[in-house]
Amino acid sequence: MQYISTRGEVSALTFGDVLLTGLASDGGLYVPQAWPELLTGEPPSGVLSWNPDEGSYADLAAEVMWPFVEGVYARHRFEEIVGDAYVRFDHPDVVPMVEVGDGIWLMELFYGPTLAFKDIALQLVGRLFAEELQRRGSQVTIVGATSGDTGSAAIEAVKDRPNIQIVILHPHGRVSDVQRRQMTTVDSPNVHNVAIEGTFDDCQDLVKAMFGDTAFRNEQRLSAVNSINWARVMAQMVYYVAAAQRLGNEVVSFCVPTGNFGNVFAGYAAQQMGLAVSRFVVASNRNDILTQFFTSGTMTIGEVYSTLSPSMDIQVSSNLERLLFELLGRDGRSTARLLKDFRVAGQMRISESIREVLRGSWVGIKVDDETTLQTIAACYRDSGKIIDPHTAVGLTAARRSHVQGEGAMVVMATAHPAKFADTVQSAIGCSVPVPSALAGLVDRPERYEVFPNDLKTVKAHVARCATGLV
Ligand SMILES: *Cc1c(COP(=O)(O)O)cnc(C)c1O
Repeated sequence: MQYISTRGEVSALTFGDVLLTGLASDGGLYVPQAWPELLTGEPPSGVLSWNPDEGSYADLAAEVMWPFVEGVYARHRFEEIVGDAYVRFDHPDVVPMVEVGDGIWLMELFYGPTLAFKDIALQLVGRLFAEELQRRGSQVTIVGATSGDTGSAAIEAVKDRPNIQIVILHPHGRVSDVQRRQMTTVDSPNVHNVAIEGTFDDCQDLVKAMFGDTAFRNEQRLSAVNSINWARVMAQMVYYVAAAQRLGNEVVSFCVPTGNFGNVFAGYAAQQMGLAVSRFVVASNRNDILTQFFTSGTMTIGEVYSTLSPSMDIQVSSNLERLLFELLGRDGRSTARLLKDFRVAGQMRISESIREVLRGSWVGIKVDDETTLQTIAACYRDSGKIIDPHTAVGLTAARRSHVQGEGAMVVMATAHPAKFADTVQSAIGCSVPVPSALAGLVDRPERYEVFPNDLKTVKAHVARCATGLV
């Protein structure tokens, strides 16, 4: 399997290179040259051999991901790495499902070490990084931006690994206390936290600018693990397949609380491989650029608002580029033009014919904070289930868009409610039990630097961290 850039100006790479490179040097994102066929024909005649009653989640993961890494690893070694990635998950099903009424299911993606869905991809990606670097005898500096959950999941995945330094930028004062402490209390010499005086989009722009500077990027051996990294999308495809298989391989719809569009794009990727999906519901908070996109075909960059679901406080969803590339017939030049215009003008519009393709299978729904709190309360009252604000945005959108008789709708439950305990408590009127993963967090010392939103300052700091001496 070779990987190409969505902007079509760089040559194809193998999985190992794509893993370590992250963003392509033409500014594009890597995607597989062709989608392998995993499931053929009408369900349930798929070629997948996984049986949800017998096989483990790791078995399924190895099977689904194999075509993307074949030739890079020996099969048994890949299975070993994948198996190891999911041992730290605190549930035998890794990603269990519960029904919350009316054919709507929650797929709980938060049993990993940092209690958010990002662990599912990053626990694997950290191990693949270590393997690849060891094989090459080289080292990297991972630089990433986080709106809250990516940072801790990435740090947890690579802490104490030789050959990796990790620098994580988060927007100062715009992540929850728990989210910050999960990053800043990790006591490992290779972990470097930076709070930027700005928004998540500012952090993401700083990271993009560092990667865009080829000399700097090569000198510091920069590498990325944010959701633009193909390996993360690859790991996230697996649970879409698991959901459908567990529901008897029927046609399902998915509702995904969305920020950077990585999670829901993984569902789309699974669909490209043959998974029968009826609709994707893209759920957003007040930061509704994606709702605009799916309802009107236009996107206008606006201000970023702080909401009760901070991991979705994003205005520019990087992974949407991968979907646009597909919609534009995998034409890198058109994709590049569209995105460059968007950057310059702050606005873009897709053609009527593309809107027609999206209509029916993609829905965008925006949910405000007040409704989010009401949904948390109603879900607790009706089912006894405590959900986090991101999941509540998803559940609200699912209920609004779910049509009776259309089949099951699976909502991606992206975080454990204890990560957003204050918000959840205010909605349900009682405290959220603290899982063992968070016990003792407030007592540990924090380590982080605060910097202005200034590229030069941040670059100098990254260069110091890359030496491994600070
Ligand atoms: C990251 C995150 C999201 C958004 O996921 P994307 O892949 O960026 O769309 C939603 N909910 C939670 C809890 C998250 O951590």
